[in-house]
Amino acid sequence: MSVKALKGFKDILPGTVETWQRIEQTGRDIFHRFGFFEIKVPILEKTKLFQRSIGETTDIVEKEMYTFADRNGSSLTMRPEGTAPVLRAYVEHALHVKKPIQRLFTIGPMFRHERPQKGRLRQFHQMSVEVLGTNHPMVDAEVMGMAWLILKELGLSVSLEINSLGCPKCRPEFNQALLDFLEKRADKLCLDCQRRRLTNPLRVLDCKSQHCREQYENAPSILDHLCPDCAEHFSSVKKNLDLLNVPYSVNSFMVRGLDYYTRTTFELLTDNLGAQSAVGAGGRYDGLVKQLGGPDVPGIGFALGVERLALLLEHEGLSSEEPQVDCFIAALGDEALARAFVMVNALRMRGLRAAMDHQGRSLKNQMKQAGRMKARYALIMGEDELEKGEGILRNMENREQQNVELGGDSSAWSTMIKKILV
Ligand code: ATP
Ligand code: MG
Repeated sequence: MSVKALKGFKDILPGTVETWQRIEQTGRDIFHRFGFFEIKVPILEKTKLFQRSIGETTDIVEKEMYTFADRNGSSLTMRPEGTAPVLRAYVEHALHVKKPIQRLFTIGPMFRHERPQKGRLRQFHQMSVEVLGTNHPMVDAEVMGMAWLILKELGLSVSLEINSLGCPKCRPEFNQALLDFLEKRADKLCLDCQRRRLTNPLRVLDCKSQHCREQYENAPSILDHLCPDCAEHFSSVKKNLDLLNVPYSVNSFMVRGLDYYTRTTFELLTDNLGAQSAVGAGGRYDGLVKQLGGPDVPGIGFALGVERLALLLEHEGLSSEEPQVDCFIAALGDEALARAFVMVNALRMRGLRAAMDHQGRSLKNQMKQAGRMKARYALIMGEDELEKGEGILRNMENREQQNVELGGDSSAWSTMIKKILV
């Protein structure tokens, strides 16, 4: 029996990979425009990194992490998100010493043991950014505007929901109000929420159960409990979003699934992915760097889900095509095949995509192959053509043909072909 990939782990095949590449290129390009530098961090980290940052009582840490003992017994975890590893690297390499404000992005796979469904995998990919060293509300708006721009340049429209989760000063008061509210309805909540109510009350607002959501419709709003500093920060974030013309709505129930968030949180949502409505999400995490043993610097970041972006692009008919071959050389006979072998190489060295059929099958077969490769041009070269020193260059789109000199020197020849093709 053949071995199959794991459930929730997916191969990204040619034909789909091109859409992924466009997503990543668009991301990289825009990250660079906003002054971000790429960082690559390991997939495996010590488990305590995620326990300490994401929070022990979050869904991710409680039930979604791929955690196992290394051969020497230490507990390792395959990263479920990118912020903790990037901040670990930031602290470990003292990046804050080099520049007061740091802008980092990373692109790669994340792992969560979730129930796989459309747009929800166990290995999925994120493009994520972190801005460290400033809590200026302009930066919150700038970062959301950047996420917005990526979606816009991809041709997608989503809605932006924002909220503020306050800070350690105002959170306890809200927690108490929420606790009082929940206590009165404890028996109506799902088992998870009954437990969360006691361990991490804010988490209940993140419950996916429709029944619980209905219960929380009249729950106290965190926005009514912000301290003056946090209220001022939030109102300034909104003003700055207006200045950038980024449309948003406020959702005071959005709490996000990670404990480290403070103040601004946001999600980019779509109606076109069924239950998986968020294509990206993020927020501010002002105490996190310190909590991970680093300097007391604030930070904000977000992650976009590449699978969900690819699904959306497909849904909108915006998937990318496999790249075309510029020139397919259809050679007939041993002598022509040997020539073609050198000519294909010369074209490639000139920066063109070139291909041939080394088997030298029938002309009909070779032209079919050129068609399958979506070749823009085919150069046909049989014994007669070799004798005349001229091949037939066919434009595969409009079927026009022209004779081209095959010439002696493959470098001069490929330069001539390149001129015709571009
Ligand atoms: P959700 O509410 O959909 O579970 P989340 O709040 O757990 O999302 P984050 O941890 O904020 O998601 O990750 C940011 C983005 O990464 C999400 O908006 C989504 O696009 C993507 N993402 C998260 N989990 C998965 C997954 N299991 N499969 C595919 N993409 C995911
Ligand atoms: Mg989740």
